[in-house]
Amino acid sequence: MSRKIRIPARTIMTPGPVEVYPSVLRVMGTPILGQFDPMFLKVMDEVKEMIKVPFQTKNEEAFAIDGTSRSGLEAALIALIEPGDKVLIPAYGRFAYLLGEIAERAKADVIYIEKEWDSVFEPKVVIDAIKKHQPKIIAMVHGETANGQMQPLKEIGEFCRENDLFFVVDTVATYGGAEIKVDEWQIDVAIAGSQKCVSVPAGLSLITYNERVKKVLASRYQKELGLSKDIRNKRHISSNYLDLSQLERYWNQERINHHTEATSMIYALHEGLSLLLDEGIENSYQRHKINDQAIVAGIKSMGLELYGDMTTKMPTVTPILIPEGIDGESVRSMLLEEFGIEIASSFGPLQNKVWRIGNMGYSSRKENVLHVLGALEAVLIFHGANVSPGKAVQEALNVYLTSK
Ligand SMILES: *Cc1c(COP(=O)(O)O)cnc(C)c1O
Repeated sequence: MSRKIRIPARTIMTPGPVEVYPSVLRVMGTPILGQFDPMFLKVMDEVKEMIKVPFQTKNEEAFAIDGTSRSGLEAALIALIEPGDKVLIPAYGRFAYLLGEIAERAKADVIYIEKEWDSVFEPKVVIDAIKKHQPKIIAMVHGETANGQMQPLKEIGEFCRENDLFFVVDTVATYGGAEIKVDEWQIDVAIAGSQKCVSVPAGLSLITYNERVKKVLASRYQKELGLSKDIRNKRHISSNYLDLSQLERYWNQERINHHTEATSMIYALHEGLSLLLDEGIENSYQRHKINDQAIVAGIKSMGLELYGDMTTKMPTVTPILIPEGIDGESVRSMLLEEFGIEIASSFGPLQNKVWRIGNMGYSSRKENVLHVLGALEAVLIFHGANVSPGKAVQEALNVYLTSK
C-alpha cells in the first residue's frame, strides 16, 4: 500500500486559503536554520520591513506570529484588554463576532452594535456609539469576507485617536489586495494573515502596531520564569504563546528566547512578500480590481444577482445570491469534481443563500477568472438554472480588453 498523498491541482477561487506561488512552495523546501542563526535573523529583519509596506506604516513594530490570522487578532486584543475593559464591536458580518468572542474570553465588557450584513456602517453610527458607550477599545473588520463588504475606516480612526481610544482592525482579507493605510487612518493595531492575498500557506499572522500599543506592552511585560525570576508583572498578558510583549522582544534586537520559530514558514512569507513588493502594491491592487470587475461583469451577464452594497464591495470577494430552487452545495461539488475549481459558501444568515468567489493573491489571475466563469455557467445550466448562456466569458473578456 502506498502511503503517499496524491494531491490534484486545483483552481482555488475562495477567500482563502488560495493558491500559493510556485516559488513560495520551493523556498519552503530549503534547509532549516536555527532560529538564532545570523542568516535566519537577517531573513526575519527583512520580513519585518516588508510586512510594513502593504500596511503603509512607519511603525517600528511589524512581525509575524506563528498561527493563522486569528492568532494575531487574539494576540492584539489580549494585549490591550484587562478584565472589565469596555470593547466596542461594530458588527456587519461574521468576523466582527470573532473579535467579540476573543474579547469576551479575555473578560472584556463587550458591546456590539449590529446591523444587517448587506452593507457597512456609516462612520457616524460608529462614532455615536463610541460617544454613548465610552469604550477603551474599538475593534473592527476592514474587509468582511463573509459578505464581501469593505468598511471605510479613516473617520473612525481619527475620532478614536482624538479621544485617546485604541483602534484595532482586522485587515486579513484585504492586506495586499486592497489599499490599507494604517498610519493615515490612525489604526493602532492592524492584523493580516498569510493565506489570503499574500499567497503563502496558512499558518502565520502578520501584525503591526504603534508606539501607543508598545507603551501598553512595556507596562505588561513579564519574562518567562525559566529565563529569569526577576521580571514578574501582576498585569501580565494572559497568554504565554500569544504574548506580544515577549514576541516583540524576540523579533527585535533583544532576541529573547520565546518559541521556536517556524523557519520554513518565514521563508515562505519572505518569498510571498518579495513577490508582492516586486509587483508593487499599487499594481497588485490594480490587478485585483480588474479581475474583480471581470468577475462582476461575468456574473451579472449570466443573470445572477450579487449580494450587498456594490459601492462598498471588496475587490477580493464576490458574494452571489444562489438562484431560487438551485442546490448551492451541489453546484459547488460539481465545480470541484468536474472542473477542479473551488468556490466558497458563506456563514450564519448567509449560509445556503450565498456563494462567494474569492479573488486573492496568486489566485487572482485572468485565466482563473475566465475558467471559473465558464465552468459556473456550464454547471448552472446542468442544474437547470435559468441563466443567459454564452455571455459571462465574453463580458469578462471585454473588461480585460478595454482595461489594456
Ligand atoms: C480568513 C479571515 C480570518 C480568520 O483567519 P484564520 O487565518 O482562519 O485564522 C479573520 N478575519 C477575516 C476578515 C478573514 O477573512
